Amino acid sequence: MEELLSGYKDFRGGRYAEDAALYRRLGERGQKPHTLVVACCDSRVDPATIFSAGPGQMFVLRNVANLVPPWGSEDSAEISTAAAVEFAVGTLKVKRILVLGHGDCGGVKAAIAAAQSGAPVSSGDDNPHVGRWIAPVTDLCRAKAPALAAAEGDQDRGRLIELETVRYSMSNLMTMPIVSKHVADGSLALVGAHFEIASGRLLVWDRASGEFRLA
Ligand SMILES: [Zn+2]
Repeated sequence: MEELLSGYKDFRGGRYAEDAALYRRLGERGQKPHTLVVACCDSRVDPATIFSAGPGQMFVLRNVANLVPPWGSEDSAEISTAAAVEFAVGTLKVKRILVLGHGDCGGVKAAIAAAQSGAPVSSGDDNPHVGRWIAPVTDLCRAKAPALAAAEGDQDRGRLIELETVRYSMSNLMTMPIVSKHVADGSLALVGAHFEIASGRLLVWDRASGEFRLA
């Protein structure tokens, strides 16, 4: 806890002190974020840092491998992500949803290994839910088996599937009635991107071509 409290003291005397009026206004009047970000839990991929966003600007949903489950499944995970999306779109009226994938994603690496070996992602007592959660990513790996086999190196193989997770989540978001309705009336944009940690490069999904291009 000491490590955290030390960081908090720096924040309280630094950023909070500088932005005290902003924090007070946000605390008293509520939030009005412009973007819902669906990102991975990965500690190296903080959306607010990457997009230089301040407090109150981004509503962030994080889970392993930035996944949005298919709408209509009876899984508790679907309820969790759907609740966050509904609140962001229906109540907070965000202008866009960004699905943010990233390089060196551990969830994606585990899914690739499982798809290639045919073994379950995890069977250990410590993480019985990981395999279940990233099963859709394992399916994406199987669907992309020829491209995976042709890719050279772990980084390229990883990126191939990391980009697929972004497409997968964007596709599932569009099956949610509240998302498709607001996209159709032009009040909500659906965007995707991929952050390469080591290089700091950002690839952005291009709607016209369906491909990712360097920002
Ligand atoms: Zn990740």
